[in-house]
Amino acid sequence: MDLIDLHTHTTASDGSLTPAQVVQAAAQAGLKAVAITDHDTVAGLDQALAASRGGEIEVVPGVEISVERRGSRAGMHILGLYLDHRHPGLLSALERLQEARARRNPQIAQRLRELGLAVSMEQVEALAGGGQVGRPHFAQVLVQMGAVADRGEAFARYLAADAPAYVPKFRFPPDEAIAFLRRAGAVPILAHPGLLRLRPRALEELLGRLKEQGLEGVEAYYSEHDPATERLLASLAARLGLVVSGGSDFHGANKPDIALGRGLGGLRVPATLLAGIRQRHRRLAGE
Ligand code: AMP
Ligand code: ZN
Ligand code: FE
Ligand code: FE
Repeated sequence: MDLIDLHTHTTASDGSLTPAQVVQAAAQAGLKAVAITDHDTVAGLDQALAASRGGEIEVVPGVEISVERRGSRAGMHILGLYLDHRHPGLLSALERLQEARARRNPQIAQRLRELGLAVSMEQVEALAGGGQVGRPHFAQVLVQMGAVADRGEAFARYLAADAPAYVPKFRFPPDEAIAFLRRAGAVPILAHPGLLRLRPRALEELLGRLKEQGLEGVEAYYSEHDPATERLLASLAARLGLVVSGGSDFHGANKPDIALGRGLGGLRVPATLLAGIRQRHRRLAGE
């Protein structure tokens, strides 16, 4: 069976491989297509698309937007696949998110210093290597300083939504993110719904609501979805008229358990899913 991976991160956000390296690794793994879906940025897409030229593998330009979630500080994620990454409306929405991060990151550093941890913005920026700075980079600095044993502890003790150095970040409401993705030709897909830990009825309600707002698909195949979740999401998608997507959420060495295309080992995303997603994209691009 031909396989694909429609959810990956690069050094443009919090992955450890450059966009070109992700494309190369995906081709080496024998995947037919790979989507680059960095958090809140399209900065890696030119390089990724250039890396695929002349090769066999298809690179799907994408993004993963963090949006508000009712009653949760943690939010949820919406993927946009097949986007026009030069679309002005998309770029100004992403710029707003970059500005929000630029304000938030020094506040996180400040909180950590107040907690007695000498973390500077220079350190995290150096670690991010010019890419977007986020909490994973703060976590890595805390590990390097020896303040915590690993990133998990860094989040649990300092950076998680209920921890003392957490600073909330601006997020778009889902309907706004879905709207700006659609205008950029992107197929909006709810990422890893299994991580929301909702009962089937609540999940169906959420998907129904998001569909009314323009959601087109659901990420049924995902590293951390068990087979029952995968089946539930596929059947909800069929019932609601949503397309099915799938990906690993590959982050390179920053999430070493997750392999490109293979997730935790059992992931298999069939290449046949692409036809449905492309069809939605064509419809949106023609609107
Ligand atoms: P940010 O966008 O700066 O808020 O950082 C969000 C990223 O932090 C997510 O995409 C995850 O990769 C990572 N993250 C969030 N919570 C945890 C956690 N409890 N343990 C490890 N990584 C986490
Ligand atoms: Zn990430
Ligand atoms: Fe995500
Ligand atoms: Fe992701």
